[in-house]
Amino acid sequence: MTRAEVVVVGGGFAGLAAVMALRAQGIDDVIVLERAASIGGTWRDNTYPGVACDVPSHLYGFADHPWPHWSGVFARGDEIRAYLERTAATERITPWLCTPMLDARWDAAADRWRVRTGGARPGEIDAAALVLACGRLTEPRIPDIPGLESFPGPMFHTARWDHGVDLDGARVAVVGTGASAVQLVPRLARRSEVTLFQRTPAWIVPRDDRPYSPDEQDRFAADPALLERLRDELYAEGEARYASRSGDADAAAAARAAALAHLHAQVPDPRLRAELTPDYAFGCKRVLLSDEFYPALASGRVRLEASALATVEGRTLVAASGARHEADVLVLATGFHSTRQPYAELVRGETQTLAAHWSAGMTSFASTVVAGFPNLFVLDGPNASLGHNSSVLMMEAQAGYVARTLAGRAGVLRVDPRAEAAYTAEIDEAAASTPWVAGGCRNWYVDERSGRLTLLWPGTVDAFRDRLAKACGDEFLPVTLERGKR
Ligand SMILES: Cc1cc2nc3c(=O)[nH]c(=O)nc-3n(C[C@H](O)[C@H](O)[C@H](O)COP(=O)(O)OP(=O)(O)OC[C@H]3O[C@@H](n4cnc5c(N)ncnc54)[C@H](O)[C@@H]3O)c2cc1C
Repeated sequence: MTRAEVVVVGGGFAGLAAVMALRAQGIDDVIVLERAASIGGTWRDNTYPGVACDVPSHLYGFADHPWPHWSGVFARGDEIRAYLERTAATERITPWLCTPMLDARWDAAADRWRVRTGGARPGEIDAAALVLACGRLTEPRIPDIPGLESFPGPMFHTARWDHGVDLDGARVAVVGTGASAVQLVPRLARRSEVTLFQRTPAWIVPRDDRPYSPDEQDRFAADPALLERLRDELYAEGEARYASRSGDADAAAAARAAALAHLHAQVPDPRLRAELTPDYAFGCKRVLLSDEFYPALASGRVRLEASALATVEGRTLVAASGARHEADVLVLATGFHSTRQPYAELVRGETQTLAAHWSAGMTSFASTVVAGFPNLFVLDGPNASLGHNSSVLMMEAQAGYVARTLAGRAGVLRVDPRAEAAYTAEIDEAAASTPWVAGGCRNWYVDERSGRLTLLWPGTVDAFRDRLAKACGDEFLPVTLERGKR
């Protein structure tokens, strides 16, 4: 059996952030498990045409690893993947690749985690602490549509793009109008006949993307202070966006008006405009950024089916409206399992699995530690996502908390259930009047079992950093040191 101080599961942004933060606190004995053949997470798995971030590139990266050569305001997916590979190489982070965590259980007799691995390095790791950095938009959600399996042509999810399929001139149906579809559809429309199934339209605001010229990139490279100032400005702009996303009446009205003006300017046809106009509060679903989506629809190159895909009868796709559409290829832009994370089934704490503990929705203290799961940390999990700013900021804050907590520990860290309950009540109170919960839409931030906001942090990044800084150890039960267990 292999021994390690910490096992980190996942080689995406969160996993790398964890390793760097742990090392900064002098914790070097860390094994990173990654089930895939390379690191990158989201940015390895999502290779659909048009994939890019929707947070400015210079903010969507690690604070200590600025990158002067982003090609534009919003980096392409392949650039972000390369950035993660480069960062791991620079930091000499070498995950165990092709090695899934099969399961992990808390061994109460030894006060250690037993992490069972498969794939390239089957076996068991005996670790003092376990960090789950398995992602939140990682497991594609395939909708339960009657007859889906009868579709005879190629069918794939946006996060599993099949680059072997020839799309030139093909009739391609896309299901879903979330963040991936809005990036994909304009690209697809250049080469295919696209039918787009829209259950609910999104609020879409201008993206204002532009390339960074070689001169600009050189200036960023030559002057780190310039990059730092830019990052600070982008951070402040992001934080200012929180008001419109979270339901501040004036800010939301202004943002809504800007989104409607964008729609009006890009879609002259009033009927199409009506179909693309959301009927729920601004911010309730993730607000999307695009300058290309509406023009693609207005051009007539994309046929909008303004209702959900209801059934599939071979090549015929039947919409909830009753309309029938023929397709050669079916693309599922249907999002991810966000509220019920498959990794939760794999982890057993003192009395039950994480999935059982979360049977009414994810809960935690500090969005990171969970009662009944000693020395366990979850990154980018419960209430750690954002709709207004870069998620990397949140992961870095969490990673800092993990490292500081582990470095300062004098025994096993057991979260006081009262601390978790109080934190959960804080979240519920902060969320109650926000559009995410009360905005009249269905979104992936809210757990469908409890109606609680379990994905999104209902505050600014500043507020999250403050909240974690305030956690000074009394969230854990008093330690009784027992000889032979450390
Ligand atoms: C298309 C797309 C665009 C996005 N754009 C943005 C954006 O612009 N801004 C933003 O802030 N966020 C964006 N996001 C959210 C994005 O997921 C996060 O920003 C971030 O990349 C998540 O990093 P992560 O490390 O938490 O998870 P992931 O990147 O999903 O990495 C998790 C890793 O864990 C591995 N793993 C999971 N289970 C196991 C297991 N049992 N054993 C071993 N390994 C395992 C996975 O293989 C994966 O590599 C986007 C998401 C998508 C899907």
